[in-house]
Amino acid sequence: MPIALPPGKKCAVVMSWDFDAMSAFVLRGETTPTLISRGEFGPRVGVPRVLDLCDKYKFKTTFFVPGWTIATYPELSRKIHEKGHEIAHHMWCHENAPDLNYDKELELLEKAMDVIKGVTGKYPVGNRSGGFANSNNTIKLLQDHDFLYDSTQMADDFNVYRCRIGDHGSPSEPWVFGRESSILEIPVAWVIDDWPLYEFNPQPRINPGLHTPSQVFEIWSQEFDYMYDRVPNGVFMITMHPYISGRAHRIMMVEKLIQHMMSRPGVWFCRGEDVARCWKD
Ligand SMILES: [Zn+2]
Repeated sequence: MPIALPPGKKCAVVMSWDFDAMSAFVLRGETTPTLISRGEFGPRVGVPRVLDLCDKYKFKTTFFVPGWTIATYPELSRKIHEKGHEIAHHMWCHENAPDLNYDKELELLEKAMDVIKGVTGKYPVGNRSGGFANSNNTIKLLQDHDFLYDSTQMADDFNVYRCRIGDHGSPSEPWVFGRESSILEIPVAWVIDDWPLYEFNPQPRINPGLHTPSQVFEIWSQEFDYMYDRVPNGVFMITMHPYISGRAHRIMMVEKLIQHMMSRPGVWFCRGEDVARCWKD
């Protein structure tokens, strides 16, 4: 296992937040007041609650933020950075990377990187593509721009691994695996993402959502418990959204989950960047 955690640490937890605000709505042309207000709940209510929670339990984490969102909320983005949290790349306006050709993905990546640097003083080292969807070019683009890690893929649950470039295949032949890249994957999963579990979405694709926090606590705490007990040097990367888990009954569950995980010795609450820097070849 090529992850060397700090002394005394048994596993790592990244309580990551995709601070989208209304970017995904705007991308789809959904700019009427009620649709905008759904995303606006994030910066207005969710992010302040999340920052308070991180302060209360004294840990830093990672916010994946589209460049467009940073340009719309520069002061709040700067506050996130000044509190010591990582601001990582999350597309320009929450585009679906497979919809972009190479040149467009490159252009938007560099545009978003510049906006992040404008707030943090340095280029991002982490990426999460919108909708958990990398294109066939994403990993190469990240490697070419000196990123350390991606957090968009799902080939493992609690182990960091290297992303590949150049996979190909078809139903008529076995899959051909490409070469390993320099980009580390801190894997994600829809079961530890709050969007499918909570967010009622009537359009453009129906998602029933609206699980209760106790149902989500059951899933997330058991994922953590399995890792804690059985996976040496495991990394638990949860994906949440301020406009979803920032709601009152849900943020209370997030706090309960933090307390559950902090009750076990040797759990390191950290940023994605911190995990990536623990990688040893
Ligand atoms: Zn997002």
